[in-house]
Amino acid sequence: MPAPVLTLGVLALQGAFEAHAAMLRELGAEVVLVRRPAQLAELDGLVIPGGESTTFLKHLERDGFFDILQSFAQTTPTFGTCAGAILLAKDVLNPAQRSLGVMDIAIERNFYGRQNDSAILTEATSLPGGPLEMVYIRAPRIAHTGTEVTTLARRGDDPALVQQGHLLAATFHPELGHDTRGHQHFLDMVRTANTRA
Ligand code: GLN
Repeated sequence: MPAPVLTLGVLALQGAFEAHAAMLRELGAEVVLVRRPAQLAELDGLVIPGGESTTFLKHLERDGFFDILQSFAQTTPTFGTCAGAILLAKDVLNPAQRSLGVMDIAIERNFYGRQNDSAILTEATSLPGGPLEMVYIRAPRIAHTGTEVTTLARRGDDPALVQQGHLLAATFHPELGHDTRGHQHFLDMVRTANTRA
């Protein structure tokens, strides 16, 4: 029997959501662009894209979206990239700001942006298939990871792709490159969570 089609949401309040949707579709998922909290109920997993985390927070103030999204991410696979990773983090620095706080990482906003605005790097990863392409745009740095967090790829010495159970965070933009392994890994996580449920 073929594996059931997964329904993935991409939070579409602002930012780089279309490229995520295209990559997930290319990998065989059904994609819902999420603009209202009620849409979360139908999803197997969610991507929170890059963009501007402060703008996200503003949009999430409506309709109890923040609290509903926080409960969702506590139990359901969620992948935060760049600004999305900032939202997932327990601690946000430079400056401190509110976050969903579900992932045991500390993240420093606009860290790499201070050095060079954007860069395309190829860095080592434990994902199968050799070095990983990473697109950086005014990106945050993961400054600390808790004991439950696994680092799957690094930028130099800094964690760049990290997993904690059903949660995945990237400081780069995996949806903007040609390398689909970040999304593929997330879909594998979603499938594992589904078969356990
Ligand atoms: N600088 C943005 C922030 O702090 C993140 C940048 C991005 O998502 N590309 O929210």
